[in-house]
Amino acid sequence: MLMNRPEYLYALFGNLTKLEGIGQKTSIYLGKLDIFRPIDFLYSMPTGLKQRKLVSFVSQEHLEENVIVKVRVVRHKLKKFGLPSSMVVSDRMGEFNLVFFNAKRDWLISNFPVDEELLISGKLERFNNQFQIIHPDYVQNIDQASSIPIPQAEALYSLTKGVSQKLFFRSVTQVLNLLPKEVNNHEWISIDRVVKNGWSSFKQSLERVHKPCSEDDFSFSSPFRLRLAYDDLFSHQICMALARNTTKKVEVERKPISEKFSKNLIQKLPFELTRAQNRCIKEIKNDLSNKYPMLRLLQGDVGSGKTLVAFISMLLTIENEGQCALMVPTELLAKQHYKNLSEYTAGMDISLTMLSGKTKSKIRRDRLEKIRTGMVQIIVGTHALFQKDVQFKNLQLVVIDEQHKFGVKQRLDLIEKGHLIDILVMTATPIPRTLQLTNYGDLDISIIDEKPFNRKKIDTAVISETKIRPLVKRLKDACEKGQQAYWVCPLIEDGENSDLVALERRYSALRKYCPTIDSMTLHGKMSEDQKSEIMNSFANGKIQVLLATTVIEVGIDVPRASIMIVEGAERFGLAQLHQLRGRVGRGNFPSSCTLVYSKSLSSLGRKRLEILRKTDNGFRIAEEDLRIRGGGDTLGLQQSGIPKFKLADLRYHADILSWAQEDARKIINENPNLMGLEGSGIRLLLFLMGREESLSLIRSS
Ligand code: ADP
Ligand code: MG
Repeated sequence: MLMNRPEYLYALFGNLTKLEGIGQKTSIYLGKLDIFRPIDFLYSMPTGLKQRKLVSFVSQEHLEENVIVKVRVVRHKLKKFGLPSSMVVSDRMGEFNLVFFNAKRDWLISNFPVDEELLISGKLERFNNQFQIIHPDYVQNIDQASSIPIPQAEALYSLTKGVSQKLFFRSVTQVLNLLPKEVNNHEWISIDRVVKNGWSSFKQSLERVHKPCSEDDFSFSSPFRLRLAYDDLFSHQICMALARNTTKKVEVERKPISEKFSKNLIQKLPFELTRAQNRCIKEIKNDLSNKYPMLRLLQGDVGSGKTLVAFISMLLTIENEGQCALMVPTELLAKQHYKNLSEYTAGMDISLTMLSGKTKSKIRRDRLEKIRTGMVQIIVGTHALFQKDVQFKNLQLVVIDEQHKFGVKQRLDLIEKGHLIDILVMTATPIPRTLQLTNYGDLDISIIDEKPFNRKKIDTAVISETKIRPLVKRLKDACEKGQQAYWVCPLIEDGENSDLVALERRYSALRKYCPTIDSMTLHGKMSEDQKSEIMNSFANGKIQVLLATTVIEVGIDVPRASIMIVEGAERFGLAQLHQLRGRVGRGNFPSSCTLVYSKSLSSLGRKRLEILRKTDNGFRIAEEDLRIRGGGDTLGLQQSGIPKFKLADLRYHADILSWAQEDARKIINENPNLMGLEGSGIRLLLFLMGREESLSLIRSS
């Protein structure tokens, strides 16, 4: 299997400083734009277009436009440093000024020799009844002008300090010339797609996007952009399909499932499983009887009862003498699951243990021994579960309760560890279809699409922070009646410490206004013991108001809590707010969620919060969130868990993503090893997109 980058791509992936005009310093600035290798210039899409008009003389008609005009230098009006100097030039019709602020005399004199003919460009303005161009962007003598003409249309890019538009554009031009002809000898997209959509080749598309004739050429819906988006998404889906193929290729031996533990647990429950839960359990049971390892995503809204489905799956595995590991994002959650699992499995012949980063070394050694010898069947923990020294006797199922942190790569690492294990990934946030494809394209999916019948509707209100006094008053009344509340303090961007300040400030204010209410703070900087002690007091009703940072976002289950207040709500992602809201409405009390926004709320922000008020359907919220979010909102994008694509923007290219998945799965099903595809260029595409790592997934069979 060819895994080395073809030689004809070396220049594109070489050092940036090989490009003319880029030195060490500039290359560091370029890193801020995610440009590390020459090819990255091509993957940075234009954001605008500068058009220049070739005119034979300047005139009123072209005022405020960018013009290119041939002039002759007439004389210099050099001023002392600090005052603008002018180069008086003339075109066919008359004289005008090229104006320079802070330009060095020597530079001006040598670049504008009197009587010389120059081609210049810049924005035409009028000042004191005379035409002028301030700091022309191109000044060429006639020789230069004939070899590299001033571009009449120039793509504009989003830049950063130390990187000028001119440098960027010049680099793009250089890199376009580095695109080797070999790239054009391959077409990795099926001819059908290319023809049906009227697409051009990869190379032509890049050229057109970066040397556009009009803004349409690089708009999201231009055929050139669509083709490039497809290339990006297709290569990603090929990786997904390869990963899927790797796990589906090996066969496992299974014993029939006995159901002795799982049946027992289901009978013990004080409620009936929902239809959706039963269906998901059935799908999982099917997988666990199948000859291939399970690789399944279990998704469902907050409070839909995923955890229980996962527990039952674990019991199904233990019945067959396997070990299960349950991995969760936080220590707090690990403890909660451990406790619930202990209760559920009480009286059954099952032993459990817990592992986290905080487990003391002596205890840890002891537990590791039990895991290694198979004395425990269930291991609950954080990512510490998969450190090198953890060896399992017979690990068969891994359940991952995840928060978008568990990528394809990690999944594969895990598979290496337990050979042929079954994997169940649970997501706490509903995932729009787009994200299913991008983040979990290699998984089978089960969806819990209904909630337990006893769920109360949660009253959601959106209020301004100026109304916080009456809110506190209502909170006080409710607590006096025995209700319990979460109060989530705002996310503050410049670091955890400021989060703490906000939390402490709110805490002392609350103590002052409501001295009779027992409140406590909870945050990520506390020790695990402290945290669980506080959570326990809250769960037992000893604390009435729990002031917290977002540590409580994931999974916490305290049925008695019925009030959720989120301050600075506009700073949270919608999915995150929905998660927070899902912490209440779990018990017998009518529940409420109040989203408090700051004075500076934008109209877009207001719209987002309104979505939450109007619906409690997590899937709709996730879709809407994705739709509303602007491309510039990087915080939001991170929270949404969308992987960053170079050339595709999922707000506009969701259809393309579906095509890409369809095509990629088909190709990999027919050609699991990419054999017989030598000429198809798929391997070349993976290199071009920087995804060649996944070629290592292709095991020679
Ligand atoms: P999720 O993980 O999907 O957010 P949980 O598994 O935490 O939801 O479930 C929330 C609560 O609902 C738990 O206390 C759980 O015991 C309870 N629960 C789960 N399934 C049902 C059901 N079918 N009927 C009633 N309550 C249920
Ligand atoms: Mg949960």
